[in-house]
Amino acid sequence: MSTVVKENQGAVILDGKAVAAKERQKTAVRVGEFAAKFGRPPGLAVVQVGEDPASTVYVRNKRKSCAEVGIASFAHDLPESTSEAELLALVKRLNDDERVDGILIQMPVPKSIDADRVMDAVDPAKDADGFHPMNTGYLAQKRPRLRPCTPYGVIRLAEHYGIDLKGKRAVVVGASNIVGRPMALELLLARSTVTVCHTGTRDLRAEVERAEVLVVAVGRPEFIPGEWIRPGAAVFDVGINRLPDGKLVGDVGYAAAAARAGWITPVPGGLGPMTIAMLLSNTVDAAYLRKGVPIA
Ligand code: NAP
Repeated sequence: MSTVVKENQGAVILDGKAVAAKERQKTAVRVGEFAAKFGRPPGLAVVQVGEDPASTVYVRNKRKSCAEVGIASFAHDLPESTSEAELLALVKRLNDDERVDGILIQMPVPKSIDADRVMDAVDPAKDADGFHPMNTGYLAQKRPRLRPCTPYGVIRLAEHYGIDLKGKRAVVVGASNIVGRPMALELLLARSTVTVCHTGTRDLRAEVERAEVLVVAVGRPEFIPGEWIRPGAAVFDVGINRLPDGKLVGDVGYAAAAARAGWITPVPGGLGPMTIAMLLSNTVDAAYLRKGVPIA
């Protein structure tokens, strides 16, 4: 096992693309085993409402990844004008459809629809994203079931590189329901000592400078200057921001951070591919759980 504080000779780049490919291979094997046992592959319904261009790219990638590992994907592309009642009716049909093990509603949904009400309506047993309050609750109670994909991806990436999280001072910047909060719960589960920062945090720099493990999910390009990074720290940059010139950057000033950190995720090629890999893995977990088979 590596330790988190190490001599700095430039950071190890955490290759999310390569690790995600390995995770997908493992998932493909489990898909084959499930299909052999139950006569059908695990199924994921991917629902998009409207035509947000970034969402369209994410949805396309998710469907393509399903096909690669043999998961049956059910596409539901609804017009921007879809009402909340219509979306809730679709969720109900998918909840009742035996072939569907996972349901993903691509966010954001149009403003006329209450996203929380829609997510609450998804059967928690089919919550492939791990966003349902029931699954967050299970994670909070140290008995994770379907785990939120991006935070779970951080944990799997750390495990892959032998980054020991136990006892480390971990700082999460961002406290959203889909990334920051469940990330804090995952790190707590991994026995880190966790601080969560948000817009109410008094001295963000001081908190970040203390971090042996840093996860940033804010959604602002290069929001955390690389100079704030503690030498040797493990840095997980969740942010995906498109600059006016089309370039994608994370929430951390990458070049300066990479010169100080022990480990760092690139953007793109870090947590993006890991998040999709965990979605596929969750779909297979959901399929087995629904058949009463405990997941390893
Ligand atoms: P979000 O819901 O907008 O939450 C942003 C969080 O950042 C909030 O908790 C907010 O604090 C905090 N924040 C904003 N400004 C801050 C400031 N000045 N100082 C301290 N904290 C501040 O965003 P999200 O959905 O978590 O996503 C965050 C980023 O991750 C986005 O770039 C998104 O595209 C990316 N993302 C990537 C993946 C992936 O697959 N890699 C998956 C999901 C999201 P308050 O709580 O106080 O408002």
